[in-house]
Amino acid sequence: MVLAERKLIARIRHMAETGRSTALLRGIGNDCAIISPPRGSELLVTTDLCIEDVHFRRRWHPARSIGHRCLVRGLSDIAAMAGEPLACFLSLGLPAKLPQAWVDEFMRGLLRLATKFKVPLAGGDTSTADKIVADILVLGYTPAGAAVLRSGARPGDRIYVTGELGGSAAVLKQLYAGKKVTAARSSRHFYPLPRLQAARWLREKKIPSAMIDLSDGVSVDLGHICEESKVSAAIYEANIPMSRGADLQLALHGGEDYELLFTAPALAKLPPKIAGAPITLIGEIHSARSGGGLIHIFGESGQRRVLRPAGWQHFRQI
Ligand SMILES: [Mg+2]
Repeated sequence: MVLAERKLIARIRHMAETGRSTALLRGIGNDCAIISPPRGSELLVTTDLCIEDVHFRRRWHPARSIGHRCLVRGLSDIAAMAGEPLACFLSLGLPAKLPQAWVDEFMRGLLRLATKFKVPLAGGDTSTADKIVADILVLGYTPAGAAVLRSGARPGDRIYVTGELGGSAAVLKQLYAGKKVTAARSSRHFYPLPRLQAARWLREKKIPSAMIDLSDGVSVDLGHICEESKVSAAIYEANIPMSRGADLQLALHGGEDYELLFTAPALAKLPPKIAGAPITLIGEIHSARSGGGLIHIFGESGQRRVLRPAGWQHFRQI
């Protein structure tokens, strides 16, 4: 059984006490948190819902992985804007019969990631619910005017991705097929890490013209950049960096890799790795008129086809 609300909040507050930051003047314990963002910065705010059987399954995902994955979605959005996280807020809806040990493990997963990136848990709410619902809000900042948007890609820009793609979806495919998958700490599916350091490097060097995190898959997320920037894109099959166990379909359409996709002027010089993340050139941006506002993908022998958005639809197919 989950603890009664007051006890549960006291317990979470106690667990969260490890996470502190100089920007957080007051965290859990008042009606509002008080945060003092660095002078001259602009705030970034992102929220994400994690719902049982939509975003995770209790029999597939250990509670610790679910807590971790809940926070990574918000942190990855902050990375996508080239921001720095300041604090997170968690609202939890929990079935009354859920073992408290599950909640403790969930919190451990979330707080371990929060500690790693120095993001204190600064508040939230709890309630009973029919299924587990976790709503994470992450507050971040960038120096004024330095946030990288989806709308800055220009014809001639090159398209890059960090890391390897399709790894998370490859695991999900195995889970769907009824295979047992160990939730190793190194797994990009169970414990993905946000690319905050790579994003900081890119911001400081003023390299990206547009950026997004790959939460839904290249076909969907590059589509968002094309739409917001009013451009087209061409990518090359042979250049797509694939994770072990992934195929081209999973690499193009599989979500939850939490890598970054960014565009940069053709003359920008990029190292092969940024903060440990391999950087791969996968294509270029064209004008909307010449590409019809679409993403084209070129096969190994040069044949061209349109890449339609078909991102991973979480668990909706069952
Ligand atoms: Mg995002």
